[in-house]
Amino acid sequence: RLAFEDIRHSFGNGSETLREVSLAAEPGEVLCLLGPSGSGKTTLLRIAAGIEAQTSGRVLLNGKEIAGPQVFLPPEQRSIGLVFQDFALFPHLTILDNVRFGLTALSREEARREALIALARVGLEHYADNYPHALSGGEQQRVALARALAPRPAVLLMDEPFSGLDSRLKDSVRAETLAILRESRATAIVVTHDAEEAMRMGDRIALLKDGKLVQTGRAEDLYLKPANLFVAGFFSELN
Ligand code: ATP
Repeated sequence: RLAFEDIRHSFGNGSETLREVSLAAEPGEVLCLLGPSGSGKTTLLRIAAGIEAQTSGRVLLNGKEIAGPQVFLPPEQRSIGLVFQDFALFPHLTILDNVRFGLTALSREEARREALIALARVGLEHYADNYPHALSGGEQQRVALARALAPRPAVLLMDEPFSGLDSRLKDSVRAETLAILRESRATAIVVTHDAEEAMRMGDRIALLKDGKLVQTGRAEDLYLKPANLFVAGFFSELN
């Protein structure tokens, strides 16, 4: 369980990026963090990952404080996996070495074995010796997912994981990703600005506006019982 408690954040320019955000991703759930551009979604993920520090509040992972007034665990000690928008694969490394990259704590042989297991989970073990450019966008996204899952993190964070994909590919890659998350029983937070994507992927949705949580709940709750006009407006184009 990843919990944010009363998170505030500012880049020091007078305006607040996040205001009193309290939110938790429960074990095994896919929580979609939804909101328009600039609402603070990426900043909240970066705080969880340890790439950015909050101004106040705490982050707890399975009850243990990983960031707080007196605590700041570095990213590599957090057991949190990250998938970036552009996949961030190393073009000069093979698929196997890309996945092995996050497994530096293991011996070379163990890392190879774990990387192959992770690749098998996303159905790409036969591409182990290929380079990223030989793979389609959807396959590259699955490699990024394998790399993030390989160290068996407690929580997986995905920042707009489908936005770099061709719109024809999106639906199938989304469905594949969701199946992989379910099979690995991953606890995941998926950032998106797309209400339809959040409805399809999220067990629950947390909607952010100007750094504040507007409504958190199951997709149908936000859709059928919007807390205010902003929520209603965000979902109004869906049918
Ligand atoms: P997007 O979908 O466009 O990435 P977002 O919801 O993820 O948006 P953030 O990237 O978290 O939003 O940004 C929140 C606010 O903080 C925005 O107003 C943004 O301009 C500002 N911001 C982001 N990074 C910095 C930075 N390094 N320095 C100053 N302000 C920043």
